[in-house]
Amino acid sequence: MIRVGVNGYGTIGRRVADAVRKQKDMELVGVTAGHPHYKYAVADGKGIPIYALDMKSLEAFNKEGYSLRGTLNDLLQRVDVVVDGAPEDIGAANKAAYSQAGVKAVFQGGEEHGLTGTSFVAQCNFEQAAKKQAVRVVSCNTTGLCRTIGAVDKGPGVTRARAVLARRATDPDDVKKGPIDAVVLDPTTLPSHHGPDVQTVLPGLEIVTMAFKVPTTHMHLHSVILSLKQKGSKEDVVKALERAPRMNMVEGRAGFKSTANVMDWAREKGRDRNDVYETTVWKDSVTVVDGEAYFFMGVHQEAIVVPENIDAVRAMVGGYTREESMKLTDESLGIEHR
Ligand code: NAD
Repeated sequence: MIRVGVNGYGTIGRRVADAVRKQKDMELVGVTAGHPHYKYAVADGKGIPIYALDMKSLEAFNKEGYSLRGTLNDLLQRVDVVVDGAPEDIGAANKAAYSQAGVKAVFQGGEEHGLTGTSFVAQCNFEQAAKKQAVRVVSCNTTGLCRTIGAVDKGPGVTRARAVLARRATDPDDVKKGPIDAVVLDPTTLPSHHGPDVQTVLPGLEIVTMAFKVPTTHMHLHSVILSLKQKGSKEDVVKALERAPRMNMVEGRAGFKSTANVMDWAREKGRDRNDVYETTVWKDSVTVVDGEAYFFMGVHQEAIVVPENIDAVRAMVGGYTREESMKLTDESLGIEHR
């Protein structure tokens, strides 16, 4: 069993922790907690061992009558791999503690590529994480772009990528951020950072992206334009996407008119937390004009990186092929495996 700890129990950390519990080759040794919150009472009820971030957190929990298992340092003594789920740009400061404990670490997309030198999307570069001490699972948008662009590249081929991202404002439990009544250019200067981030996984790809935030909490929606290497048809592009792993091909005529319908689909399927781990592509949007493929793509920001975190753990520990790991992950999370 691979012993896994999760440091940072927020949007991503909570999901990764539950996904670890579903793997037959992994044990969730524990998660960390900063200050008392209902999510830790729920975790405790599930039997998840909880450790404090530090001594100050431990005292805060003791005061509230919780009895935790120790601190992050104690957790690190008991794990092979830690998944860092700290807020954007905060995870980097944890790296020294992980190295000191001799524990492998998976960081998230809010950290810089340079922190680990290996940015990860399972279907694109699983093998590059082999034997690494630290790997960064790229952001939700980058994961979606790498999956679709990588898939089309394996079919008709891609010479150039363009994407316009309508980004969700914030996550559903975050009451502090907006916008509530605006579309916010994010940023006003172009291009956005997403293109260079895709290049950390797909080096050499010519890509330009632009982004803005819209008042919704569920899913990003990308308008993607790919210049094709070979003169492909709509069918060639659809076939390449349908063949690829972790792709959710949907159609307007089946009721998928919006991101809300995609979330509703996950609810109907009884997915944990209504999570959509796959990249959603509107099959009926796929259009090829003059050698350029156009399509709409949806990214459930809270969930899409969860399978990648599980595969990153296996890739770093070793002993699994890409196919073996992705199959185990997909089957455990109810993702149709291909
Ligand atoms: P979050 O704010 O929901 O959760 C962060 C958790 O970390 C909180 O529980 C907080 O108490 C804890 N924490 C605070 N300081 C810490 C520290 N020093 N060490 C460890 N934990 C600490 O954050 P999130 O949205 O889950 O984001 C985590 C990472 O995942 C970021 O890098 C982010 O960019 C990335 N990411 C987020 C999303 C998303 O849509 N939320 C999607 C993909 C990737």
